[in-house]
Amino acid sequence: MFDLQNIRKQFPILSRKINGKDLVYLDNAATSHKPLHVLDSWQKYYTEINANVHRGIHTLSQIATEEMEHSRRKVQKFINAKNDFEVIFTKGTTEGLNLIAYSLNNLVKADDEIIISHLEHHSNIVPWQMLCERTGAKLKVIPMDENGVLQLDFLDKNLSEKTKIVSVNQVSNALGIINPIEEIISKTRANSNAITVVDGAQSVPHQKIDVQKMGCDFFVFSGHKMYAPMGTGILYGKEEILRKINPFHGGGEMIATCTFEKTTYADLPFKFEAGTPNVGGNISLGAAIDFMENIGLENIKTHENVLLNYAQKKLLEIDGLKIYGEKAMRTGVVSFNLEGVGISSDVGMILDKMGIAVRTGHHCTQPIMSFFNIAGTVRASFAVYNTLEEIDILADGVRKAQRMLS
Ligand code: PMP
Repeated sequence: MFDLQNIRKQFPILSRKINGKDLVYLDNAATSHKPLHVLDSWQKYYTEINANVHRGIHTLSQIATEEMEHSRRKVQKFINAKNDFEVIFTKGTTEGLNLIAYSLNNLVKADDEIIISHLEHHSNIVPWQMLCERTGAKLKVIPMDENGVLQLDFLDKNLSEKTKIVSVNQVSNALGIINPIEEIISKTRANSNAITVVDGAQSVPHQKIDVQKMGCDFFVFSGHKMYAPMGTGILYGKEEILRKINPFHGGGEMIATCTFEKTTYADLPFKFEAGTPNVGGNISLGAAIDFMENIGLENIKTHENVLLNYAQKKLLEIDGLKIYGEKAMRTGVVSFNLEGVGISSDVGMILDKMGIAVRTGHHCTQPIMSFFNIAGTVRASFAVYNTLEEIDILADGVRKAQRMLS
């Protein structure tokens, strides 16, 4: 049974006061809070285990290795990867995307094309621009309409044997729009040999992921947006491609043999995991998966949809409030502005005085802001512990901000 009060009790930070008011935390797309189960796992690692993995033969090192590999298998099941060695620990989505962009260097030549969408976070734009600079490839962008819906006929016209990579997010962080990722992947497969990359940073916290069903070649996400510690993340890659491409980082752990003349690389996944990993964090990512699975991914999705629909309804009752992407399929996020209030950060500052945490600004998606000809939005984003009462508090707060600023 879905017991919201019991879920909230697992997040000690939610009982904090901010500016003398109960914290209303609606900045979950930036990072979610961590439940006791994850905090305990982190603390247990540092108080009872703390050893480096793989290298040592002593007991603690063996326990650390076993626990981290156990967590890798949890991630494998969580996203339904075929093999555990297709799951690579990273420090987050940004590192995952950069890793792919560097590792694919050899497969991209001058005049090849890389396709992304207008709805991307900067971390799914800049690494591809850098790859284009290194190789002479061209970046192309799937356009969107006024509702933030991607115009997929662009793919029909632009996919060709020149297309080497198509990289799109499953859910937009700025607007919460759910992109038709399976359709994008199947169009790509049908019309090119391009490698498909999915940025799952904003989808993983809200819905069940099945990378085999999705059919993508790569899938990346951050742990810290799904109740795990910061500095954790996952890169999933299909075995066939991971074996073919070069590693991004060189160093310890990722070699099979090393001489001054030549190095051979370790087998998967270690080829892509140079250096000491975030062992405690990676183990705690497994604890975050336990937390989500104990509640049930369907229950999380249902609850967050109720929150989103209610927030949309309550906010649209406010005169002069515009929600961006209002008519599109969305999850987890309401992004809005108030007519006559030019600067979203002013609204954010007033809400903060009332204990309400939202994010304001461009959300690392300047091209989306340019499309709507705005500097930024106010973004309220939800997690499983948010309540309808918190949305009432948000709506009252926005009304108050509107009165103060107009
Ligand atoms: N992509 C999307 C869609 C995101 O929302 C974010 C985080 N805001 C990122 C990429 C980057 O994630 P991180 O900062 O955790 O690397």
